[in-house]
Amino acid sequence: MPADKKPESESIRPPGDKTGMPPTSARFQTVERQKLSDQVAQELLRLIAKGELAPGDRLPGERQLAALMKVSRVSVRAALQQLKAQGIVDAVQGGGTRVVANAEEVNAGLVQLVRADASNLHDLAEIRANIEVWAARRAALLATPSQLEEIEAALAAMRDPHRPTRFKAEDDLRFHMAIGKASGSAVYMHLLMVLGDVLERSFAYHRYSLYASEHDDHRFLEQHRRIAEAIKMQDPDAAAERMREHLAAVLSKYSDETANGLTVKLAAQR
Ligand SMILES: [Zn+2]
Repeated sequence: MPADKKPESESIRPPGDKTGMPPTSARFQTVERQKLSDQVAQELLRLIAKGELAPGDRLPGERQLAALMKVSRVSVRAALQQLKAQGIVDAVQGGGTRVVANAEEVNAGLVQLVRADASNLHDLAEIRANIEVWAARRAALLATPSQLEEIEAALAAMRDPHRPTRFKAEDDLRFHMAIGKASGSAVYMHLLMVLGDVLERSFAYHRYSLYASEHDDHRFLEQHRRIAEAIKMQDPDAAAERMREHLAAVLSKYSDETANGLTVKLAAQR
C-alpha cells in the first residue's frame, strides 16, 4: 500500500459528518476499497506465481493476512473470494484456504489413461526423466537454505533404518517434490501437482514392484544422496547428470516388466 494512502478505517466515515465531505465521497470509498482487495489478490497471486506459496500450502488466516498486509479483513476476504473464483485457491475443510493442489479433471483423466494402458506409466517416467533433470539443474542454481533443508529432511527420512517400508514411495516422491520446489519455478510445481495421483502411482510402482529389494533401496538412497549433494554444492551440471542417471536407472527395467504383464496388473489396482 502506498505510504500516502489513508488507512481504510478513515475512509468509511459516513458522509455529511463534520469533515464537510460531500455525499458523493461515498462513491470514492467504494472504488478505494475495491482497489485494496485487488491489490491484496495481486500480492497473493504474486507469491503463488513465484512459488513462495506452493500448491497445497495453506494460506495464513484472514486475521493474520490482514495484519501482515496492513489492510482490513474485509479486503482480505474479498481478495480470497476473487482468487477462489479464478480457481487459484480453494477452501479447506474446517476453515482456511490453500493454494489449489491439482487440476482434478486433468488428474482424473490421467489416472484413466494409466488404467486403460499401462504403457502410459512408462511414458510418464520418461517425461519425468526430462523435466526433472531441468529441475535439478535449476535447484542447484537457485535453492534457498530452507529449500535445501527440505531436501535434506526427505533424504533423512529415506536414510532412517527404522522407517517402515510402506513410506518408501512417499518419501521418494517427497524428495523429488522438494527438488521441484527448490527449482524456484511455480510453473514446474504446479505441473507436478497436476500429475498428482498418477505421480504417486508411478512412484509406488517403482518402489514396490520394479525395485522392491533392499539392495535397490540402498542404490536409490545413494543416488538421491548424490543428487542432493550436487544441489547443495551449487553444481548444476553434476545435479542434472546425477538426476539423469537416477531416472535412467528407473527406466531401464520398464521394458521387461511391461512385456510380462506386471505393469498391467499393477495399473488395474487401486
Ligand atoms: Zn527418486
